[in-house]
Parts: sequence; structure tokens; C-alpha cells
Amino acid sequence: MKYLSTRGDQAERHFCDILLEGLAPDGGLYLPTSYPQIDAAMLARWRGLSYADLAFEILSLYIDDIPAADLKAIAHRTYTEAVFGTPQITPLKPLEPGLALVALSNGPTLAFKDMAMQLLGQLFEYELQRRGETLNILGATSGDTGSAAEYAMRGKAGIQVFMLSPHGRMSPFQQAQMFSLQDPNIHNIAVQGVFDDCQDIVKAVSNDLAFKRGHRIGTVNSINWARLLAQVVYYFAAYFQATKTDGERVSFTVPSGNFGNVCAGHVARMMGLPIQRLVVATNENDVLDEFFRTGVYRPRGAAHTLETSSPSMDISKASNFERFVFDLLDRDGDRVKRLFGEELASNGFFEITAEERARIGERYGFVSGRSTHEDRVATIRLCHQQYGVVIDTHTADGLKVALAKREPGVPMLVLETALPAKFAVTIEEALGIVPPRPAALDDLESRPKRVSVMPVSVDQVKQFIVDHV
Ligand SMILES: *Cc1c(COP(=O)(O)O)cnc(C)c1O
Repeated sequence: MKYLSTRGDQAERHFCDILLEGLAPDGGLYLPTSYPQIDAAMLARWRGLSYADLAFEILSLYIDDIPAADLKAIAHRTYTEAVFGTPQITPLKPLEPGLALVALSNGPTLAFKDMAMQLLGQLFEYELQRRGETLNILGATSGDTGSAAEYAMRGKAGIQVFMLSPHGRMSPFQQAQMFSLQDPNIHNIAVQGVFDDCQDIVKAVSNDLAFKRGHRIGTVNSINWARLLAQVVYYFAAYFQATKTDGERVSFTVPSGNFGNVCAGHVARMMGLPIQRLVVATNENDVLDEFFRTGVYRPRGAAHTLETSSPSMDISKASNFERFVFDLLDRDGDRVKRLFGEELASNGFFEITAEERARIGERYGFVSGRSTHEDRVATIRLCHQQYGVVIDTHTADGLKVALAKREPGVPMLVLETALPAKFAVTIEEALGIVPPRPAALDDLESRPKRVSVMPVSVDQVKQFIVDHV
């Protein structure tokens, strides 16, 4: 299996060539040259597998430069009951016949990003050791991604993490989650500014190519292909739990921000998994819903990005979306390059043709909807009253849209992207109760913290890295 760029660069690369990379050199995103096709016999064989063995089978179709025994060991080290809490790893939580949540949030940081990041940690450690190299991961976070990355990379040989976050602007729970890590290879830097300042510092350091090379700086952003690939696995795992035979169709609803999670569903569907609909649920930051309704993609500036009670979906542009558009436009890399390059730069938006718009639903199964704070609160209440299940705000956005888009006879599976304990304020608003938290995290906020506070200064961050590598 080889990989190419969505912007027309045809130079083919193997999996491990792109594992440690971000964007392709032409600014595009990496995708496989074609999607491996699964048939009825494969589905039947996979139905009985453990999550780790299923992950191994799916990864094997996309990775031909790691020996099978090693890849199998990596999958088994990653997807354990000890880390994810249950032998199924992603169990279904039935709400009523034909409606269930897919529990993706029982990893160390209580959000679905652990599903991919934990695998990435193992793959990075493996590949760096094989090459005899080290890597210093530099990132900016307003909460979720940073903590998932730190928990995935803690204690990994040859890897250090430098994670910038806006000082005093994360929830006490999120701060405690990150700052309580005592591993010597994890460095928390609280910048006296806002999230955008953190991101600007990361960009400035990465744009200093001499520094970047000299200090082996890398990233773990959401456009990494390995992260997306890891997420394909749970669509299969959920399908097997929701169906009895291999022809049955199901639909998925996915609370979406950067389009990484639902793009993995698209890949699973392109491989031949019998998915009827892929429902994209957004919050008030509805760039994606607008596209799926109108065919117009119009990223927003920071000033037009709203702060909502489902903050992990507060995005201005959907960084993985280009992958779907590449497939939608029959893999015309030159056109994708024009749309995401010149057109966005000069017009601030692009529009696809009516014929292409028709394909979104007909050929690719996509529909969409949006949810607001009021919807979220009402849906958290409804889910609690009707089913006795407490859900988080992002999952509530998903459930709200799922209820509107489900079809008779087709089971609807809603991806649970975080546990309610992470977003306690809105849960209290909706239900008047403090959401339960896993017992192991009872004392989280009172644990000793390891963090360096710094002004908004590229030079001081660089110096900190120099002093610690
Ligand atoms: C990251 C995140 C999302 C959005 O996922 P994308 O892959 O960016 O679409 C939704 N919910 C939660 C809780 C998240 O952390």
C-alpha cells in the first residue's frame, strides 16, 4: 500500500515514510492510492476477533513496511482492557432498540482521541527505535488533544513532548489531567496568553527550519494519517456488535470538528463496510453542516468562531475535510489544489457543482445537522430521563442530530466522544447533578503539578527546548 497527496503530488510513499510527517510537501494531506476492499468472507472472519486482532487485520491492509509479528504486538500492546476499561475496548451502550452509543471514551483522558493517540505512541516509539532517531513533539492545546498526546507519549523511549497551553484558561480538570503527569519526558508550558498565542509560537518554531531540523521537532496533529487509520477500526468493531449477519446496514452519527473522526467512517464505508448513512453533527460552529447542506465551504476566521459548551468542536476550518473532497471530486488533485489553495485564499470560500453535491448523499451517504447550547441541554436531559444514561455535551450534539436523521429499520450508532465528567458545568446545568467520574481520578485536582509558566515568547520556548533535549 502506497500513499499520495490530495493536491496532486503523485510521489508514492510507504506508511512509515508519512508516519512522522504532517502535511505533504505540496500542502496536501496523505491518502492511500486506493482503499483496500473487504468481502463477505473477510467480514465473517473478522466478526469473531478481539479488538486488538481486528485492529491488526485492518492496519495490515494499509501498512506493508512493518513486519506482521511486530504490528500484531503493537496492536496488542495498545488495545488492552487495562488501558480502555473493558475487554471489548469500544462497547456499545444500547439506548433503545435500533439506537446505541459507541463508547469510545474510556481511555486515559476520557475522550475518543485516546483511541488513535495510544496507537500513535506505540508506532512512534517503534519506528524511532528502528531508525535510531529521537523526536521532540511540540504542540499547542486548549485541552483535549494535548492531554491525549501526553498520555500516549509518557515514558516512551526517544520521545519528548513540549505542550503549550494558555495559562489559566483550561478547566481545572483539564489542567490537572496534564500537569499532574510526572514523567520526565513530558513538559507542560503554560503560556501567559490565549490559545492562538500558543499556536503562533508553535508555528514560529516550526518555520525556523534550522532549529526544527537541529532539534528534531515534530507534531502530532489531527491530519496525521495513522491517527485516522486507527479510528477506522472502531467503525468495524461497532458494526459487529450492532448486527448479527454481515449484510445488515447501520448508520453512524459523529460529533464533528476537524472531520477526523467521521473521515475514518468514510474510509470504512469506502472499504465496503455496510454503512447506510454517515451523519455529521456540528455545534454552532457549523462550517461542515453548511457545506453538506449547500455545497459551499466557507471557513471562518478566529473572530467568527464561537466558544460553545461543546468546546472540542469549536473549529473555524475542518483540517481533515480536504480528504473527503478529494474523493468527492474523483481524486482530481489539481482541482483540490485550486479549491483549497487559490480559491480559499482569494474568495474565502469555494462551491462545488450541483452534480457533485448530489453525490454527497447518493454515493457517499453523508448527511448533516447542527445543534445549539439549548439543544445540548435538552438532549442531555432527554437521554437521562428516557434512558437513564448521562452523556457529555459533544455526544449530546450527536444524539440530537441522530434522532432527526435516523431511518426505520437501520440501527443508528452515535459515537460517544467524551465522558460527561470532563464537561461537568453543562451537565450540572442540565441535570442538577455532578456527573460521575472514574474512581481512579477522584483526587486528580489535588495531585502535585509539573508545569512551567512563560510569557508569550518564541525565544523563551526555544530556550526551554534547548535546555531539555
Ligand atoms: C476532537 C473531538 C471532537 C471532534 O472530532 P474531529 O475528529 O475533530 O471531528 C468531538 N468531540 C470531542 C470530545 C473531541 O475531543
